[in-house]
Amino acid sequence: MTALVDNFSRQVRYVRISVTDRCDFRCVYCMSEEMTFLPRAQILTLEELQQVARAFTELGVEKIRLTGGEPLVRQGIGDLVTGMGQLPGLKDFAMTTNGASLPKHAETLKRGGLSRLNISLDSLNPERFRQLTRTGDLAKVIDGIHAAQDAGFERIKLNAVILKGRNDDEVLDLVDFARDESLDISFIEEMPLGDVSDHSRGETFYSSDDVQSYIESRYSLIPSAESTLGPSRYFRMADSNSRIGFISPHSHNFCSTCNRVRVTVEGRLLLCLGNEHSVDLRQTLRRYPGEMKPLKDQIIGAMDLKPERHHFTTDGDVQVVRFMNMTGG
Ligand code: SAM
Ligand code: SF4
Repeated sequence: MTALVDNFSRQVRYVRISVTDRCDFRCVYCMSEEMTFLPRAQILTLEELQQVARAFTELGVEKIRLTGGEPLVRQGIGDLVTGMGQLPGLKDFAMTTNGASLPKHAETLKRGGLSRLNISLDSLNPERFRQLTRTGDLAKVIDGIHAAQDAGFERIKLNAVILKGRNDDEVLDLVDFARDESLDISFIEEMPLGDVSDHSRGETFYSSDDVQSYIESRYSLIPSAESTLGPSRYFRMADSNSRIGFISPHSHNFCSTCNRVRVTVEGRLLLCLGNEHSVDLRQTLRRYPGEMKPLKDQIIGAMDLKPERHHFTTDGDVQVVRFMNMTGG
C-alpha cells in the first residue's frame, strides 16, 4: 500500500529521480547548444539522493527510475545505484541513459541491483545521430547496448523521439534494429520543455498515431495489456518478442492514470511534468540532516498539489520553462 494518494485518488507508486543536470550530449530537443549547469552546492549530494529514495520507498513507492541529464556522468553513480538497489520494497529499479558510458558502467549497475535500462536512440545513421545529439557518437551507444546485454540486462528498451523532417524516415529501421537485437522500443512525442534554439517545436511535431500507421505498413501490431507502471501504451508483433510502445503526451493524454512524481537534482519534488507545482525537499534535507520524518511528512503533504492534468499543446508553445534535463525525463 502506498501512503501517497493525491486529490484525484491516484496512488503514487513511481518516482523518477534526476541525479544530475549535466550531460555529454546536447540533443536538439532537450538542450540548447550553450547550457549553464548548476553549481555543486545546489545539487543534492549522493547521501541526500539516497535519503530521498529511502523516504519514497518507505512511503510505498515500488518503482524508481534514475535519470538526468545523463545519469552516468554523475560521479559515484555506481555507489548510488548499489545503495538504492538494497532498499526494501523496491520492486522495479530502472535508469534512462543515452548509453554512451554503458561499456564502462553496465556491469556495476547490474551488480548494484538495477533491474532495467532504457537507452535513448533516435537515429541509426552516424551523421544524423551526431546532428541530433550535437556531440554524440553512434558507435559508442551501440557498444553500450551490447555491453548492457552482456552484463545480463533483460528487456532493454530503446527510447526514440521522432521529429518530422529530421528522423521520421527511420521509424521502420529503428523497429527492425529493435527486432534484430531483441529490444523493446518506445516512440516518444516531443514535449515543449525549455526553449530550444534548434527548431520550432510546432513544425517538428510527429504524432504517435502517425508513427503507428507507418509501422503498420510493414507489421501488424497487436495491443498488449502489459504495463510497466509507466505512460507507454504497448503493442506486440506476432513474429517477434520485441514490444513497441508509444508515449504520447499530446495525442493520448495519460494524466488520469498518472502514478508518478519527479525529483529534480536540486531536490525539487515536481508533481507533474507539465506544471510548475513543486516543493523544496532540499531545504528540509539540509535543515534536518539524516532525519526521515520531516522529509516523509513533506512528501505526503505535497500530494495535495498534484494537478489533475498537464496542458501541453501540439503547436509547440512553450508552457514550461524547465528544460528536460532539469526535469528528469
Ligand atoms: N540522458 C538520458 C537519456 O537521454 O536517455 C536520460 C535523460 S533524457 C532527458 C530522458 C528522455 O527524455 C530521453 O529518452 C530523451 O529522448 C527524452 N527527451 C528529452 N527532451 C525531450 C522532449 N523535449 N520531449 C520528449 N522527450 C524528450
Ligand atoms: Fe542528454 Fe538525454 Fe538530454 Fe540528450 S536527451 S541532451 S542525452 S539528457
